[in-house]
Amino acid sequence: MYQGGCLCGKVRYEYEGAFDELSMCHCSQCRKAQGSAFVAVAPIRSAQFRLVTGQEYLKEYRARRIRRVFLP
Ligand SMILES: [Zn+2]
Repeated sequence: MYQGGCLCGKVRYEYEGAFDELSMCHCSQCRKAQGSAFVAVAPIRSAQFRLVTGQEYLKEYRARRIRRVFLP
């Protein structure tokens, strides 16, 4: 199982799946969202992902087919 969270500690999550694919995305949305030249992306199975704490702090927006969730 993988566990992680944000730097401030409000959000914690767990993932019980595998990472089958890892890629670097250079699209304009990923660059803008991360403030860098590219983003490391690893698609996961949502059924195996669990948000442990912090749902109330998260904000979300959708652009085209992409849903981004972030902690403001
Ligand atoms: Zn992208």
